[in-house]
Amino acid sequence: MEFNIALLKGDGIGPEIVDSAVAVLERTAEKFGHKFSFTPYLIGGCAFDAAGVPLPQETVDGCLASDSVLLGAVGGPKWDNLPGNMRPEKALLGIRSALGLFTNLRPAKLYPALRDASPLRADIVSQGFDIMIVRELTGGIYFGERGKRTGKYGEEAYDTEAYSRMEIERIGRVAFDTAMKRNKKLTSIDKANVLETSRLWREIMHKMSEEYPEVEYSDMLVDNAAMQLVRNPRQFDVIVTSNMFGDILSDEASQITGSIGMLASASLGASTRGMYEPIHGSAPDIAGQNKANPIATVLSAAMMLRYSFSLAKEADAIEAAVDSVLAAGYRTADLLGGAEGTPLSCTEMTEKIIEAL
Ligand code: NAD
Repeated sequence: MEFNIALLKGDGIGPEIVDSAVAVLERTAEKFGHKFSFTPYLIGGCAFDAAGVPLPQETVDGCLASDSVLLGAVGGPKWDNLPGNMRPEKALLGIRSALGLFTNLRPAKLYPALRDASPLRADIVSQGFDIMIVRELTGGIYFGERGKRTGKYGEEAYDTEAYSRMEIERIGRVAFDTAMKRNKKLTSIDKANVLETSRLWREIMHKMSEEYPEVEYSDMLVDNAAMQLVRNPRQFDVIVTSNMFGDILSDEASQITGSIGMLASASLGASTRGMYEPIHGSAPDIAGQNKANPIATVLSAAMMLRYSFSLAKEADAIEAAVDSVLAAGYRTADLLGGAEGTPLSCTEMTEKIIEAL
């Protein structure tokens, strides 16, 4: 099969890690008889330097014309003092909304070989865990009405959370379908004891669960969920939650895997086109030194094959190659931490993954 992939390398380590993922995709295409073509576009600080805006129209048009988008990371100290609408990070919100991406899928997996990297006690993580967080991405309090006004105690600021039935049903559908493709277990996280939006959320999720009798469905309050994630992460398989709760819980879930350089993500909309990116930033402290861990971006590329191109066998092959390289003891510097051993460079780790493929 043939697919066109837009590459948004971005800033800092972005170009290094995207080049790694492209090399792995090219090897995968060769092995399985596909053709992937890649077109780079500017985003973030490099786009500001070249075109005066962090998200040029050409980039938006190129992404819209592609089958899917692979993003590295944006931002860095050079652009920190730009006004808000010119900041590299602003381009991320812009491209997500231009592509209509309302779902964020964030796997948080603790690889058995990296168990020691988790900050949790060994008895809690001895068997690893594998959680998929489905976060609503374009609604809720981050997009609601906001402002400043004079209230009962003088100056005050406010933000509003609103969710429509359509938005909840849409994300609920993605979550139940994702659960059906995994272990058929879904936890919906809300704050229905306090928030009206959560009560509507819960009512709709319950109704939808009747359509998925095979899925073991449950609700959990967000404060309890934050606690359960560190007490017993293995109890979770797929989690679905609102934009703000998902923002916070997915960072917590990634932190307990202990390795930010390993975690992938996918943003999806109504079409098969998605945007795939590592969850980490542009790591300016190690940019240009060939030290970055490319695995989060390589696993993001595997998610692209699975969710946008329906190439499950090919995605499995990339994930298995990463598993085997880690099991063989190969580590980039971030995975070694302070432990003994010689770290692999970004390109050496990429070569090991390609060999394993
Ligand atoms: P960061 O994720 O870039 O870095 C945090 C720490 O993790 C650093 O020590 C870094 O060296 C390390 N790290 C991150 N990814 C790594 C990898 N693949 N391999 C090895 N080590 C890795 O977060 P930050 O320092 O808070 O932010 C740096 C810049 O990135 C900022 O400008 C921020 O706004 C931006 N940022 C962008 C995105 C994005 O593009 N999606 C996300 C978060 C932050």
